[in-house]
This record gives sequence, structure tokens and C-alpha cells, in this order.
Amino acid sequence: MRVGIGFDVHQFSPESAGRALVLGGVVFDGEPGLAGHSDADVVAHAVADALLGASGQGDLGDHFPDTDPAWLDADSLELLCGGASRTSTVSSWPSPRASPPGAPRCRTGSRRSSAAV
Ligand SMILES: [Zn+2]
Repeated sequence: MRVGIGFDVHQFSPESAGRALVLGGVVFDGEPGLAGHSDADVVAHAVADALLGASGQGDLGDHFPDTDPAWLDADSLELLCGGASRTSTVSSWPSPRASPPGAPRCRTGSRRSSAAV
């Protein structure tokens, strides 16, 4: 059995003003967005990194570099699906235990069941 661990962090920044917070594919309107080249969905990024790591295929940045304009404002669930398709089998899927960032202004409780990952 191979095991992958995904961890991802993005900071809030002035550049993210007006950008929606996206966690696990769920958009949290009214919450400050995270800075990033894609939509900065840290949950999707962490799960993708876990999948890719478990299959020995690097991490999300190896497959979707933030220097490539093709991934600018990309939907991270699409990156997750793209990363998952690079893994060898469906059995590579991890238990969905990704955690949202511990930002004090971020309240996910009422939307937790809506998360796609
Ligand atoms: Zn990320």
C-alpha cells in the first residue's frame, strides 16, 4: 500500500480582495479569498498532492506549474481531476480528510457537507 500526504497553504493578501474563497470546490461568498495562480483551493490542492505523492508522481506544481499562464485562475477541482487521472488506479484515492485553513475569519461549518472533496 502506498500512502500520500497532502498539505497546502495560501495566504490572504490584498491581491485577493474581491476574490471568492474556494474550499473543496465550494465558493464562500463574502469571505476573503486566498492568493494564488489558480483559484487557490487549498483543499483540492492538498488532496491532489496526496494522490500524486501516493503514486510517486511528484506534486501539483510539477504537473500544473504556477509559471504557466494556462493555469491562471484555474478551477482547482479540474487540476485535482487532472492529477487523479495521472495516478495508476482509483484505489489511489485517499480518504477525504483534508482540512481547511485555520483562518479565524473563515467559517466553513454550515457549508462543510457541500464540499466536493
Ligand atoms: Zn495550493
